[in-house]
Amino acid sequence: GRTGADHPIQRELEAVFESCRDIDGGAPADYIPELARVDPDRFAAAVCLTDGRVFSVGGARDAFTLQSMVKPFLYGTALHRFTPEAVHARVGVEPTGRPFDAMLILESGSKRPHNPMVNAGAIGVAGMFSHGSEREQVRRIRSIFSDLMGRENIEFDSAVYLSERDTGFGNRALAHLMHFFHMLDVPVETALDFYFKACAVRANCHDLAVMAATLANAGTHPLTGRKVLPAKVVRDVLTVMATCGLYDYAGRFWFDVGVPAKSGVCGGIFAVVPGRMGIAVFSPRLDENGNSVRGLSFLERLSKRRGIHVFLPA
Ligand code: GLN
Repeated sequence: GRTGADHPIQRELEAVFESCRDIDGGAPADYIPELARVDPDRFAAAVCLTDGRVFSVGGARDAFTLQSMVKPFLYGTALHRFTPEAVHARVGVEPTGRPFDAMLILESGSKRPHNPMVNAGAIGVAGMFSHGSEREQVRRIRSIFSDLMGRENIEFDSAVYLSERDTGFGNRALAHLMHFFHMLDVPVETALDFYFKACAVRANCHDLAVMAATLANAGTHPLTGRKVLPAKVVRDVLTVMATCGLYDYAGRFWFDVGVPAKSGVCGGIFAVVPGRMGIAVFSPRLDENGNSVRGLSFLERLSKRRGIHVFLPA
């Protein structure tokens, strides 16, 4: 079979999971009621090796919305569909050292969002391929995530999507600023709609580990064998994840865990160990940076135990 209960990775996953069980600091996101209502004690994790074996612990098939964890994949898809020059005319690759929703565009010399991992940059990237009818948009998002997850039926959480759309004033302000600086090719609401819909894609730790493993595997899906993204695109995505994936915690995370990663306000984090594995963890209580408290501890401990820091001598 594809999973092995007695494999050392499964045992390590269980040991680290147990050691983190009692960590209950932080609080779930509450900027929309749908996220605030989540059971804060949920906890799950999964690892997918580049050979396709998947290991998991906790409710690894329980779904959540991907939120900001879609950003690396939107960026990668844009790089793949357009040229890096076209994408980087719209969004830079510099970390901000600031929260994900910081209103920083005016402070960047080129009037471009700093990077595609903060909201402004992700909305800019979304704008690049959000043209067409609503049905076409939905089909485009479904096809991106269906290829990445290696399964057909991609679901959206429509309550989360509608709430984000109705209350997303900060994101709307960012989109208006970008429009003012001629950084959006489509109407503000079109770019936002694509972004909010993408953030509301539902997945679980198993899916997320598989998506992460696709990046670890230079763009070849570990289960379907399909080439989902070119290796050069994956290199670019992982580079930006390494410096920007955890916002104002990116430096500390790189120090402690030492692999490219991306967090989401749902409480998920995925990490990529190039050539080896994708890791996903979900626990909804967040710290002040919007990162999962228990998820960070889990990744720190797993990194130490497995020696996955990319600068650790082999
Ligand atoms: N949908 C969220 C937002 O735009 C995503 C942010 C996040 O996950 N950090 O605010």
